[in-house]
Amino acid sequence: MAPYVVDELLASAEALLPDAIALRRKIHQYPEQGLQLPRTQAAVLEALRPLDLEVTTGTSLTSVTADLRGAAGAGKTILLRGDMDALPMPEDTGLEFASEVAGSMHACGHDAHTAMLAGAARLLADRRNTFAGNVRFMFQPGEEGYFGARVMLEEGVLDDPNVDAVFALHITPNAPTGVIGTKPGPIMAAANVLRITVTGMGGHASSPYLANDPMPVAAEIITALQVMVTRRINTFDPVVISITKVRGGTTNNVIPETVTLEGTLRSVSEKSRMQALAGIERIVTNIAAAHEMIADFTNAPGYPVVVNNAEFATFTLDVAHKLFGDRGAFEMPAPVMGAEDFSYLLNERPGAFAYLGVCPAGESPSKAHGCHSNRMTIDETAMRNGIAMYAAIALDYLAN
Ligand SMILES: [Zn+2]
Ligand SMILES: [Zn+2]
Repeated sequence: MAPYVVDELLASAEALLPDAIALRRKIHQYPEQGLQLPRTQAAVLEALRPLDLEVTTGTSLTSVTADLRGAAGAGKTILLRGDMDALPMPEDTGLEFASEVAGSMHACGHDAHTAMLAGAARLLADRRNTFAGNVRFMFQPGEEGYFGARVMLEEGVLDDPNVDAVFALHITPNAPTGVIGTKPGPIMAAANVLRITVTGMGGHASSPYLANDPMPVAAEIITALQVMVTRRINTFDPVVISITKVRGGTTNNVIPETVTLEGTLRSVSEKSRMQALAGIERIVTNIAAAHEMIADFTNAPGYPVVVNNAEFATFTLDVAHKLFGDRGAFEMPAPVMGAEDFSYLLNERPGAFAYLGVCPAGESPSKAHGCHSNRMTIDETAMRNGIAMYAAIALDYLAN
């Protein structure tokens, strides 16, 4: 038997929409950044209080983990994640509930994720008699570069009871409102920050043989990196290396001692990422050595690639089609090159990361101000679909 009637589930989500919008606006108005979000955490705890969930909070971050046990017996456990943090940037939306905190904005929609997840918790708590197994609601700080998901992992978010699958939604104004998009395999890239220092020996520009000029060696490294990308990396598992900053020298007649390079590496598989990093190291070290110099390469790893479990991604699209019709979901043709720390959870458990279109009324998805824009706004009514989607993924997963 189907675990729910679609129209009833959508009606329940619709009924929860006003409260979800109110919670989203409340969080939007007072954005908090990083791992410590006390005000946001308090708002989430208040929203969950009437639901009779088993709630725990993080120790080294202001996370909230809430477990809902289905009353129809034991079963699997699925984790639903919503992130809660904002970005260090000004807001220029002119909304009546715009940020009251200078230099801080919910420009990635995490306010909406939190509100939708709280709505789904209420929807599922009302239906706890209809399902077996558990739903874990993961409210996560520190997605925007603070490795919040990894910290929650270390604090046991997948344990006790053991989590069998994980799912997350992310809004985007650059897709039609209410529509779900995802794909099997890589859906977001990994990013690494690259820093290279080439050290030679300074001297007079007129007598380079008495010095050791790092300038042409740095240039050789820059071009050799592009050769490495096209010759050593699988064409069908692409990486991008861009050297975007070159610094060296002070005037026209002095050979500098050092040249520094900075850039970024983007990749969509752990394999090609590791190959590219090893290749950079090899090129930097050996080209410098060939010219009797030393070079230093450091890389600051960002989040790993977000890789959807193929079966779970298909399941996600099936559920979305069931809820929202043929045009209510689409398979993305390629990954987006941003990064997300949900990758840490997907590296541990099967699951999927999916987008929810929230393009504002009257705008076109390709032109709407996207995530991380100071003018980003969303169609809040799409949150109904977000609530329904979170809930349906849990109910369908636990029923199978
Ligand atoms: Zn973001
Ligand atoms: Zn985000």
